[in-house]
Amino acid sequence: MTTRRNFLKTSSFASLGLLGAAVSTAKAADVASSTLPSKWDGETDVLVAGSGIAGMSAAISAMDKGAKVLVLEKGKNYGGCAIINGGIIALGGGTRTQKEHGVEDTPELLYKKLTNPAHHEYRKNTPELVKKYSEWCPGTQVWLEEHGVRFLPTFTKPGKYDSQHHESYHHIW
Ligand SMILES: Cc1cc2nc3c(=O)[nH]c(=O)nc-3n(C[C@H](O)[C@H](O)[C@H](O)COP(=O)(O)OP(=O)(O)OC[C@H]3O[C@@H](n4cnc5c(N)ncnc54)[C@H](O)[C@@H]3O)c2cc1C
Repeated sequence: MTTRRNFLKTSSFASLGLLGAAVSTAKAADVASSTLPSKWDGETDVLVAGSGIAGMSAAISAMDKGAKVLVLEKGKNYGGCAIINGGIIALGGGTRTQKEHGVEDTPELLYKKLTNPAHHEYRKNTPELVKKYSEWCPGTQVWLEEHGVRFLPTFTKPGKYDSQHHESYHHIW
């Protein structure tokens, strides 16, 4: 059974984001405990500030794990930049689309490329983040598709069109 404690212990973003939030909440509580309301109007397991792709992915992941989630959005629309962006997403490491196009790629190859010390931009990348990104890329396409995102059968292969396209760009339908 997913308890709130287990959920917070096991969810990846909890360890990154919510832990930070918990620390700042504790500090805020020290300062403002006297101003806290005695009665709350609502309760939720996870509160997400912002309905962009990051916030919505976090919210959906939390819901998948059985949490009650509340998303707050300050803008007129939900979706953030994702409602106007180009719909192309840099994924590699052996995604379904890459396999279908006969592109041989693995998380290890992607990591090696994105941490190449000879590359003027990639050498600045944070290895720990690149490692996570490389490992999670193929699963990210699967996760997005499982949650209703549809990809075009085409994609941009690395090195094509212009110098910006060093990665495999997957095109969202
Ligand atoms: C024109 C354009 C084209 C792009 N094309 C591509 C592309 O093709 N491929 C690609 O990979 N990337 C692209 N990008 C970049 C990509 O869209 C963004 O990096 C991504 O959408 C950012 O998502 P996010 O959730 O981190 O932030 P955002 O999309 O900025 O979402 C943050 C949300 O939080 C809300 N918010 C902020 N503060 C608060 C608060 N205090 N309380 C409540 N809500 C709050 C905001 O209103 C917003 O809705 C493009 C960006 C633009 C602008």
